[in-house]
Amino acid sequence: MKILSQQWQDYLNSPFSRRHLLRLGAQLSGALALGAMPGLLHGAARRLTSLQADPFTLGVASGDPTADSVVLWTRLDNDILREMGAELDTIEIAYEISTSESFRNVLRQGVIIAPAELGHSAHAEVRGLQADTVYFYRWQLGNITSPIGRTKTAAAADADIQQLRFAVASCQQYEHGYFTAYQHMADEHFDLIVHLGDYIYEKSWGQNLVRAHEGPEIITLANYRARYNTYKSDPDLQAAHASAPWIVTWDDHEVDNNYAADIGEDDQTPEQLLMRRTAAYQAFYEFMPIRLPVGRQGPDMPIYRRLRFGKLAEFNVLDTRQYRSDQACGDGRKQSCAEHLDSSRTLLGGAQKEWLYNGLATADATWNVLAQQIMVASLRSVGDAGEELWPMDLWDGYPFERQELLNVLDQAATPNPVVLTGDIHSNWAANLQLDFDNENSKVVGSEFVGTSITSGGDGRDMSDYGTALLDNNPHVKFYNAQRGYLCATLTPELWKTDYKILPLVTQAGADISIRKTYITEAGNPGVQEG
Ligand code: FE
Ligand code: CA
Repeated sequence: MKILSQQWQDYLNSPFSRRHLLRLGAQLSGALALGAMPGLLHGAARRLTSLQADPFTLGVASGDPTADSVVLWTRLDNDILREMGAELDTIEIAYEISTSESFRNVLRQGVIIAPAELGHSAHAEVRGLQADTVYFYRWQLGNITSPIGRTKTAAAADADIQQLRFAVASCQQYEHGYFTAYQHMADEHFDLIVHLGDYIYEKSWGQNLVRAHEGPEIITLANYRARYNTYKSDPDLQAAHASAPWIVTWDDHEVDNNYAADIGEDDQTPEQLLMRRTAAYQAFYEFMPIRLPVGRQGPDMPIYRRLRFGKLAEFNVLDTRQYRSDQACGDGRKQSCAEHLDSSRTLLGGAQKEWLYNGLATADATWNVLAQQIMVASLRSVGDAGEELWPMDLWDGYPFERQELLNVLDQAATPNPVVLTGDIHSNWAANLQLDFDNENSKVVGSEFVGTSITSGGDGRDMSDYGTALLDNNPHVKFYNAQRGYLCATLTPELWKTDYKILPLVTQAGADISIRKTYITEAGNPGVQEG
């Protein structure tokens, strides 16, 4: 807190006065709008022909596939542009896409801009593609060609597909370990990779750090960009991005630990947190393969969205940070208090909640996924004096809205709801029951919580903490706190989750193995040992 105070002081004494930042916020919104309309700036862009060095040092990525389109991403190395005197210029950049890795037949090519206002990130939304098809893509800047990326479109909404295979990742504190998990993920050539947030961390924490962030806690747009640069420079992460399309959402550390809407962790005013959010959300867009969110404006960036993969699966991608009421009773593990039980508190916010409930009421895919951040199943513990403790940052901290969600799943009879969760740096499998206080209450869905890529360091299989929580929460069936990712294989009859783990992340190159498999049968909600 002391460090941040000094930082805030320096920050507020800098040219980034409140007025300056509000003006900057407006400009950033403008910059994001320009990103959506590359054609309009086409004439103003600069064409670079001869480069001395590779500008594609952050790799390539693709994301948010639909049945006929996908977003292709890259970002030009700003140091190299600076050396060429082009750092303030908007740059023309070409892409091509093919069904063959050798690019024998180039299916589509185009030129878009990498705007200076967006730090020379490039987002090409390529349309008119075939459904359920693997494509390869690459970028071209002058004489330099980028690495090749592999991507895949979604199946048409009414298509009967027999399988979808995807990985689930979250929480990749760069200083806590090597991204070995991503190397293994890349080797699997998934249909899809889902990232549930904590893609970057805003500050250092923990012990036994194996590598260092480029600076202290991040606050400004320049800070957030530098942090993404650090993470994106990792070759294993780049390999995973190049191996499959990603669906990303954010958690708290993309802005500030455990922030809630406009309330930060430390001594920041809501106004300061919103300035920070403006910078953080802009950097997120710049570095992620996503379409420009409709309705973004300054600190507001709606990223919740729905993606469909044939009749087999639909993903409701949620944001449980931007709209939530502040954590009750002081956050952390606490006894319930009046605030905790206040039915006016929200986790999803009104607009997202209405959108989600409407979607769940009309859902017709076999598997209906909630891809989100924090654990839905209750994870209460017992304190030293026998008192009941609630983790206030999780859905446990918002019991009214959780009950509402469970009731919607039950009453709307949403087919096979499955929740995917990150955030807590451990693996869990749980039944979603209508009443977590009644072991015999109806099971309405399954929850698979995926561990971190690196956050928390090597971790271990079991601990007293894990044992106590399993004992106290009979709807929770499995716990493990090593590092890795989930591998989900979906068919019309079965959802299979393999919990893939590494023995350690503090050294690079560890082997991956399946620690445990849990399944859910279609039509039979709840998790079973596979
Ligand atoms: Fe995390
Ligand atoms: Ca988190």
